[in-house]
Amino acid sequence: MSVLETLVVDIVELRRRTGTRREVAATLMLDDMAVSDRSVVDGRIDVALTVEAITEGIVAHGKISGVTRVPCRRCLDDVDGPMTLDFHEIFESEPTDGETWPINDERIDLTPVIREAALLSLPLAPVCGDDCVGPEPARFPTGAYKEAEPVKDDRWAALDGLHFDE
Ligand SMILES: [Zn+2]
Repeated sequence: MSVLETLVVDIVELRRRTGTRREVAATLMLDDMAVSDRSVVDGRIDVALTVEAITEGIVAHGKISGVTRVPCRRCLDDVDGPMTLDFHEIFESEPTDGETWPINDERIDLTPVIREAALLSLPLAPVCGDDCVGPEPARFPTGAYKEAEPVKDDRWAALDGLHFDE
């Protein structure tokens, strides 16, 4: 399997007959695979696609995968997580804006399509673990996240020992 910076597939052979297909397996290393502090680790995306000639043009379908790295929303530590996406995109000579992708010079460029799919899949606000209590649990208790024991306030403890005689 090759490591590539772009993934362009020549479709001349495929287009000779509808239904012709070709497997595309590669590892992409893309620059700028980040949205602020959320990223795909090393810009590395493993691609396992089938590219197939259909009446309208070309369909590319299969899976793309990588590792996402996003700060935990509670403690801000980096959280790495698996990214596996079902990929299904259509390429046409005259693409529909926002729906299909272009065929240029009998080639399809999968790079921007894969980039967009991967960036859109970055988690927004993960937690590093269900038990993450954040950086300063004493100051910022996370009772909303789990069934916390009611915290007894020491200031009231003294009252427990008091008895009021009528
Ligand atoms: Zn955390």
